[in-house]
Amino acid sequence: MDVKQMDREYVANTYARFPLQITKGKGSVAEDETGKKYIDLCSGIAVNSFGFADDIWQNAVAAQAAKLQHVSNLYYTEPCAKLAEMLCRRTGMKKVFFSNSGTEANECAIKAARKYAAEKKGKEYYTILTLKNSFHGRTYAALSATGQDALHKDFQPLVPGFVYAEANNIEDLRAKAEENKLAGILFECVQGEGGVNVLEQAFVDEIARLGKERDILIMADEVQIGNGRSGKLYGYMNYGIEPDIVSTAKGLGGGLPIGATLFGGKAEFVLKPGDHGSTFGGNPICCAGAISILERLTPEFLDEVQRKSRLIFQKLQGKKGIRCLTGVGLLIGIETERPAADIINACMEQGVLTLGAHGKIRLLPALNIPDTLLEEALDVIIAVCGE
Ligand SMILES: *Cc1c(COP(=O)(O)O)cnc(C)c1O
Repeated sequence: MDVKQMDREYVANTYARFPLQITKGKGSVAEDETGKKYIDLCSGIAVNSFGFADDIWQNAVAAQAAKLQHVSNLYYTEPCAKLAEMLCRRTGMKKVFFSNSGTEANECAIKAARKYAAEKKGKEYYTILTLKNSFHGRTYAALSATGQDALHKDFQPLVPGFVYAEANNIEDLRAKAEENKLAGILFECVQGEGGVNVLEQAFVDEIARLGKERDILIMADEVQIGNGRSGKLYGYMNYGIEPDIVSTAKGLGGGLPIGATLFGGKAEFVLKPGDHGSTFGGNPICCAGAISILERLTPEFLDEVQRKSRLIFQKLQGKKGIRCLTGVGLLIGIETERPAADIINACMEQGVLTLGAHGKIRLLPALNIPDTLLEEALDVIIAVCGE
């Protein structure tokens, strides 16, 4: 049995995989089992921030694995403390809870918002406002927070206490905040899975205003857009707001599973011993990988991310078969005349890996993709879209 057959036979049937087996990679180039090479514009869905098998990341992870791989949260370890300190210093947040994924980072945020509101305003203030077309994860509370009926329909009853406002509709946001006893507002400043929709400044300002006015927690889901991808360290920093909670994961570990929930001053002391926990959370190897990633997200490097973003927009804008581009930094959506699935498949045949998002093409290249590879890949996309 080859790997594809074996996977189809034994791995749970939850993924519609592309007919491609990746055996190894270096930087922004992946290789399949026949030795064919692909320029990667996905980075494992915004995870491999510095591409495949990056040397610096590899050394950080290997050195930690040789020293100490896990001790549980009964004890202190240096990588965990150091990563928390770095995250707080660079964001102005006060405390960090570590988990293993984006959905868990959001579960922690949701629990904290409910506890904060129950203590401050009363138990009936448990509703979390999120946005239509959002994506917050697959576990029950995060799934319930996700504003997409298609993902909910077979899994009722959901966790109660979530309402969904339309993104960039201030009237709807205000009305939903008025009608419900809110504990918090959870949002992605750029919706990734939902089709690369960028929130407008005025809408985000209104979220921040509602947080202050009602004393509820403003929670930025930075799982996809965070960790340098927007051209700032976190996406919310493009808007000049200060969320009470930031949840992140994907790109933080550079390829290892890690989630982080950051608490600002308002929420710093909400969770107490016993309120929340995770066996693997703060794992030394994952934290060592994350430290090596964060250290490299310098202001100069983030400027380079912005420059690469402009390069993509300039090259693709107005090309035949391309209707419009959305996104920020290196999270970019392309609306095409041909169906997205056809384009993704044609690009793959020609050695370029892209992904989809609600009918669009989505590009999530490694943050350090060399210009030459990026331009080569964009030429393939342009040719395919124009056919
Ligand atoms: C991917 C994603 C999640 C879920 O992360 P997992 O690690 O798959 O649990 C949550 N929020 C956003 C914005 C995401 O893009």
